[in-house]
Amino acid sequence: MSIQTSGSQTIETIAVIGAGTMGHGIAQVAGASGYKVFLNDVDREMLARGVQAIEKNLAKGLQLGKLTEDDMDRTLLHIHGTTRLEDCTEADLIIEAAPEKLELKRGILHQLEAGSNHAFIFASNTSSLSITEIANASKRPEQVIGMHFFNPVHIMRLLEIVVGVNTSESTVQAVAAVGRRMRKEPIIVKDVPGFASSRLGVALGLEAMRMLEQGVASVHDIDTAMELGYNHPMGPLKLTDLVGLDVRLNIAEYLHRELGSETFRPPEVLRRMVNEGKLGKKTGEGFYDWRGEKEEARRANPS
Ligand code: NAD
Repeated sequence: MSIQTSGSQTIETIAVIGAGTMGHGIAQVAGASGYKVFLNDVDREMLARGVQAIEKNLAKGLQLGKLTEDDMDRTLLHIHGTTRLEDCTEADLIIEAAPEKLELKRGILHQLEAGSNHAFIFASNTSSLSITEIANASKRPEQVIGMHFFNPVHIMRLLEIVVGVNTSESTVQAVAAVGRRMRKEPIIVKDVPGFASSRLGVALGLEAMRMLEQGVASVHDIDTAMELGYNHPMGPLKLTDLVGLDVRLNIAEYLHRELGSETFRPPEVLRRMVNEGKLGKKTGEGFYDWRGEKEEARRANPS
C-alpha cells in the first residue's frame, strides 16, 4: 500500500480522548504541528495532570534548545482541555487513547457518533485490540483506523497505522498525512494480533528469556549481543524491564492464544518473576536490579 499521496480529507482539528500517558503526548505533538486540539478526559484531575505533563515536556524542550518560547506558547494555545465528550465531535480526526478495553473504546465511538453528524475519522491508539472489532460499533467503519503511537510520543518517531477490514484507502491516506505532519514515520499494517511492532518485539524478548533459561548466556551478554551486534539501542531483556514483565506476559498470552504459535508461549522464567512481583523497573527488580539505580543497573540473578 502506498502512502505517498497526501490525504484526501482535510484535517484541521484533532480531538484526543484520554489525557493519560499516551493521550497527552499525542495532544502535544498535534498542537506542535499546528492543529487545533481538544484534549478530553472523563477525570478532571487526569486532564489537569495531562496538561501539566505537556507544559513540563515543552519546558524541557525549551531548556534543551529544541524549541523556542514562541513554539511553546503556540503549542499551548492550540490545546483546549475539556471533560465534555461532546466538545470533541467538531474535530475532523478523533484519536482515542482511553484504557485498553474493547467495550470502553466501542462505547466512546458510539457516543461520539450519536452526538454528531460530523463525519470525523476515528483512530484508536490501541496497542493490541482489533480495529475491525472496534469499527463494528461504528456507522462509518470505513473511517475507523488504528494510529498506534509509541511512548514517549513526543520522542518516538514510529506511527503504526493499522488498517481494519473495512477501513478505506482515503482514511489511510488522511491519517498518514497527519502522521507525517507530526514528524512521525508512518508504517501501514494489517489488523492482525500484535500488528507489526509488538509481534516482532515480543518474539525477540521471549526468545531472549528462553535462551536465559537454557543457560546460553547471561542477561547482560544476551542484551549486549543485540546492542553491539545488531545496533539495537537496548537489549530485549532490559527493554522488557522498562515495559514491565506483567505487561509483556499479558501480551504474550494474548498473542499465543490468537496466533496459535509456540513462539509466543510465555517462558517459565517470565511467569515465575511476575508471580514473585519482579515486574521490572517499576518494582525495582526484573532481569536487572533497578533499586538505587545510578549510572547502570546492577545485574540481578533471575534464577
Ligand atoms: P492511561 O491509563 O495512562 O490513560 C488513560 C486515560 O483515559 C486516563 O486519564 C483515564 O482517566 C482516561 N479515560 C478513561 N475512560 C475514559 C473515557 N470514557 N473518556 C475519556 N477518557 C477516559 O493509559 P495509556 O497508557 O495512555 O494508554 C491509552 C491507550 O494507549 C491504551 O489503548 C493503550 O493500550 C495504548 N498504548 C499505550 C502505550 C503505553 O506505553 N502506555 C503505548 C502505545 C499504546
